[in-house]
Amino acid sequence: MVGEKFISKLPKTDLHVHLDGSLREITLQELAVNFEIEMPQGVFKERYNSLEDYLKGFSFTCAVMRDEQSIQRISYELCVDAFNEGVYYQEIRFAPQLLEHHGLTSLQILQAASAGIAQAETEFNEKSANEVGLYRASIIVCAMRFPEIFSSKSIDAVNAAIDARDNHGLPVVAFDLAGAEFGNPAGAHQQAYKIARDAQLARTVHAGEADGAHSISDAITSCYAQRIGHGTNLLEDDAVLEIVKQQNVLLEVCLTSNLQTMPHLKYLAEHPYRRFVELEVPFTLATDNRLVSRTDICAEYRLAATHGDLSKEQIITIANAGFDAMFFPGSSEQARCYRQAVQVETDKVVASC
Ligand SMILES: [Zn+2]
Repeated sequence: MVGEKFISKLPKTDLHVHLDGSLREITLQELAVNFEIEMPQGVFKERYNSLEDYLKGFSFTCAVMRDEQSIQRISYELCVDAFNEGVYYQEIRFAPQLLEHHGLTSLQILQAASAGIAQAETEFNEKSANEVGLYRASIIVCAMRFPEIFSSKSIDAVNAAIDARDNHGLPVVAFDLAGAEFGNPAGAHQQAYKIARDAQLARTVHAGEADGAHSISDAITSCYAQRIGHGTNLLEDDAVLEIVKQQNVLLEVCLTSNLQTMPHLKYLAEHPYRRFVELEVPFTLATDNRLVSRTDICAEYRLAATHGDLSKEQIITIANAGFDAMFFPGSSEQARCYRQAVQVETDKVVASC
């Protein structure tokens, strides 16, 4: 039995968390009042009837992310919440293009989110003996699979991500493809991913959630994906499983979110993560959308440990896999130094809890 204290103290990552799905509810309400946006009750629930029902909340969260102060606040608060749950490193993702209709540019949006991260890092690393700090966060820029947004939009998105990193020093580390997976193959965005790869911007793709295992192989072969968001349907195809294992493609597994958006998954016992452990598929746990899914990272670890009857060692392997697959914002030497510093903390927790 893995204890609560161990789960909360163990250094963890949250590599798959959407900024626009992870606002504090109180902040959303306050901002909605400020901006005079009507906010109905009962939008965010434990259970959803459909993916459409799940996605409804995003129109409200995106509506309040309309100026730089609000975006910075939301980003900062997400870092604070994660830090308090023992997250040492997180990669915050969102699609700047979905927020541009309020008049901000992608760059201004990325700058505001980065300011929230910098504020949190300064605060939390103040007493850190380590040069790179023990709490770090970075940004993944998402492009959308929406059919009405053509592949040229994903090229704009990746160029904005590279510009933010290279010309403005922002901690943008990777590129992602989110949105309606079924019927919108990742391969349509190959050009954008090629630009990312050529610029040494890391790559992840939401895949194998609303479509089959072939969508995962499409993401790896067409989009050079180094990690996969969800990958829940991986075990449908042994050949794809082999590719994922051989190339050490980490799956970002989000249990609560999967239960809410995948109609055939009613119980955690039906989720393949326990098989992932047995088959040594590289994966870690993440929250996806803290507000929309009503979860946090400790809840995800608790669920995994309890329903999968996982040992402490198995939980440590899942947490470490996140640090091993992070897209760190800095040189490889800094990443190595950071990884070592975190390992020291992990060892301390293992020895004391
Ligand atoms: Zn996601």
